Amino acid sequence: MLPFKLIYSDDYYLPIGEHVFPAEKYRLVHQRLLETNVAQRGDFLAPQPASDRDVLLVHTPQYVEKLTKGTLSAIEAMQMEIPYSQELVRAFWLSAGGSILAAEQALKHRVAFNLGGGFHHAFPDHGEGFCMIHDVAIAIRRMQRDDKIRKAMTVDCDVHHGNGTAAIFAGTRTGSEPLPSVAASTLNPAGKMRGAHAGDVFTISLHQKNNYPAWKPASSIDVDLPDGMGDDDYLAWLYNALSSGLRQFEPDLICYLAGADPYREDQLGGLDLTIEGLKKRDELVFRVAKTRDIPVMVTYAGGYAQRVEDTVTIHCNTVVAAKEVFSD
Ligand SMILES: [Zn+2]
Repeated sequence: MLPFKLIYSDDYYLPIGEHVFPAEKYRLVHQRLLETNVAQRGDFLAPQPASDRDVLLVHTPQYVEKLTKGTLSAIEAMQMEIPYSQELVRAFWLSAGGSILAAEQALKHRVAFNLGGGFHHAFPDHGEGFCMIHDVAIAIRRMQRDDKIRKAMTVDCDVHHGNGTAAIFAGTRTGSEPLPSVAASTLNPAGKMRGAHAGDVFTISLHQKNNYPAWKPASSIDVDLPDGMGDDDYLAWLYNALSSGLRQFEPDLICYLAGADPYREDQLGGLDLTIEGLKKRDELVFRVAKTRDIPVMVTYAGGYAQRVEDTVTIHCNTVVAAKEVFSD
């Protein structure tokens, strides 16, 4: 048995037809974890859908009504870049419920996974970039409402900027200052770290600068990475961002978005990380969280490798990394 729980449902599958988003990846990850004996059946927990009340902790009543009644405008539906349906609404509500359960489980067992979620491009009043509602933000607001946490930190390692996360938790900000860095001399000078923070949720995003979304609202820390950055430089920037963030802010929960799309063979990404480098990335986040005794919940976010098996391997490796770090 794993020393933590994996939240999963076959109904995470997104009914979106032929699409660059591999909706089958959730089932394939579940299957691979069992086949490779990384996990046993008893390691999985089934989620309940989030309630509308939970979703309304983050999203506007107007937007929630449009989703549940199917009255999005043509432009709003197009902006989401996945075909709207009632089944799709149910899948996203279920994913959000999975992230809520993962947050609760993380608080009990130091770490937990939602084997899905990470829909970081959803805004309070609209969805975009394959994201309808923001499961991670909903989980954070629900934990706060239930008085289970006061402060959370998002660590977004998807190759795309966490624009929805930044917008939702923007709070009131002061102007950007250059951030102190622990080992600036070791960092690839082409990358850039910027940020300012105010509020109860500290947001970190490491992403490829020249990629979607064009408009990147300010996170607490944004690390803009140049095209083609490889494992070592990426890990140095990640370490730097985590160290800087945790010097400024003491979260009760870390929400790690373990996107598989910084992978060198990703169709929608332009970084150059290897499968091994991505696993080191996961280990780094888990070691930092464990050392500081901060619970961490994991969601998967994007992953569009040319071979879907690679996306599945990268996502499964995140579970393996947690197993290695937290088994003691
Ligand atoms: Zn992405």
